[in-house]
Amino acid sequence: MATLIVRPPNAPTLTSSTPDHHIGVHRIFCVGQNYADHVAEMGGDPKADPPIFFMKPNSAVVASGTTIPYPFATNNLHHEVELVVVMKRGGADISESDALDHIYGYAVGNDLTRRDVQAAAKAKGNPWDMAKGFDNSAVIGVVHPVSEVGHPTSGAVNCTVDGEARQSGDLTQMIWSVPEIIATLSKLVTLEAGDVIMTGTPSGVRPIAAGQTCVCSIEGLSGATVTVA
Ligand code: MN
Repeated sequence: MATLIVRPPNAPTLTSSTPDHHIGVHRIFCVGQNYADHVAEMGGDPKADPPIFFMKPNSAVVASGTTIPYPFATNNLHHEVELVVVMKRGGADISESDALDHIYGYAVGNDLTRRDVQAAAKAKGNPWDMAKGFDNSAVIGVVHPVSEVGHPTSGAVNCTVDGEARQSGDLTQMIWSVPEIIATLSKLVTLEAGDVIMTGTPSGVRPIAAGQTCVCSIEGLSGATVTVA
């Protein structure tokens, strides 16, 4: 009998709003620049290109309410409040009309970013991985199943740091809808159960300093809070 001599960690889990239900996280896909005003603040043209995708490892997941150490290798840690989609079923080349049937539910996320590292990567045309995929960089709140919240397409999207308003948008401002994102992404990779998609952030991204608490919220969903030690 073969022996698995090197065993990776178990997949991290998210908590469902349904009591005793948990969700294993397989992969984390992220959409870059999905709100027109954020694209503008980052110096881009919202209508120019198809969605940009990047990834974080599932080891980046932290639950809402966690205190994390200030990440190393950055002096400019930024918050990005995002709607998070959790897939219950995978597939390749999923049509927009079928896409919603593949979703377990929705949560609020904070796509923590080493903005200085990202800026350096962009300047050289290098990958964003180390700007985005570091330890504790995916703060995700309680996941609400579709049976409870439906498929949110409007609602306030907010982020505060120590009570100060930072980001204030609305889901209606998303350039690419959730079905469009799933259809496009599933033409690039075969999606699987437990895949998580962070769908982009509105304008107002700014630094979180050591000692501060960042609260991300979307109307109708549980929030995603993180304190940076
Ligand atoms: Mn983001």
